[in-house]
Amino acid sequence: MTDFSRLRNIFLRKRQMNMKIVSEEHACYSMSAKNKPVLTVKQGEIFRLETKDCYSNNLKTEKDFFTREMWNTVNPATGPVFINGAKKSDILKIEILEIKIRDFAIMSLEHGSGALGEFIEGQETTVLPVKDGKLIFNERLSIPVNPMIGVIGTATEENILNGTPGEHGSNMDCKIITAGSSVYLPVNVEGALLAAGDIHAVMGDGEACICGAEVSGSITMRVSTVPWRIPTPCVETDGAFYFIGSAKSLDECEKIVLRKAHNFLENVFMMRANEAARLMSLVGDLQVCQVVDPLKTMRFAIPKHVLTCYSKGVNVQQKNI
Ligand code: CA
Ligand code: CA
Repeated sequence: MTDFSRLRNIFLRKRQMNMKIVSEEHACYSMSAKNKPVLTVKQGEIFRLETKDCYSNNLKTEKDFFTREMWNTVNPATGPVFINGAKKSDILKIEILEIKIRDFAIMSLEHGSGALGEFIEGQETTVLPVKDGKLIFNERLSIPVNPMIGVIGTATEENILNGTPGEHGSNMDCKIITAGSSVYLPVNVEGALLAAGDIHAVMGDGEACICGAEVSGSITMRVSTVPWRIPTPCVETDGAFYFIGSAKSLDECEKIVLRKAHNFLENVFMMRANEAARLMSLVGDLQVCQVVDPLKTMRFAIPKHVLTCYSKGVNVQQKNI
């Protein structure tokens, strides 16, 4: 380790020691302007949310089953967090710096639930250990973990339950939302009132049987508003921008995400309409996030490398591609 990286690690540890932390007990179940903030942060300040799993940590063993009463506390999101200076119609950039998860995951299956409901026999709760960065699926198979955030959203004037994804984010169940990625969300009310939870140790696109490997954990993040008009919700990774949309059907989702991606290329990168369409057809990827929530969710990926030659004409401030 060089002197520089040693110093940087010491600095980061020191920052983390002073970091504001919200415990998992401070959870909300809807994205609503009526929720009272449990924390206020400055823009650019690093903070951590400790989160319960999507069952509010009520299932701990294979003898515990999901019951009707538990619907009231499903999908808790820790927060909301008031972001100082975030005003209505601003766009929030949430950098996910670190996701930690506990050492076991829960999956709760029930006949009739999820896209595979007809094939599921009875009701079953499964505990899957997490060890050395792997989810132990059974004695033959271990799957590398990919800790991701299922629910991350900002408040709306309505009272939208956390389970329903939408233009405000929330239960998008998008496996790209991992440590190292950034999520862009709209600010609908002063302070944004950001909340997050529903971490999965592993989840495949679709979330076919209604759950991922559900875990409690913690999310360390840094939030600020950005001056450019990127369509939201959006996730940015090192390699791509992903434009997200949710609707009743995948057909509707597809239209929403295609429109957002096209709008981004036309209005931010100043491409002509047909040029943007051709590029999307050649290098863009239409992908499914999930098909099991009250609204389904898709994303459209545009790789960053194709945008480099357009960056001179970019219609935004402070943007480096
Ligand atoms: Ca979810
Ligand atoms: Ca979940």
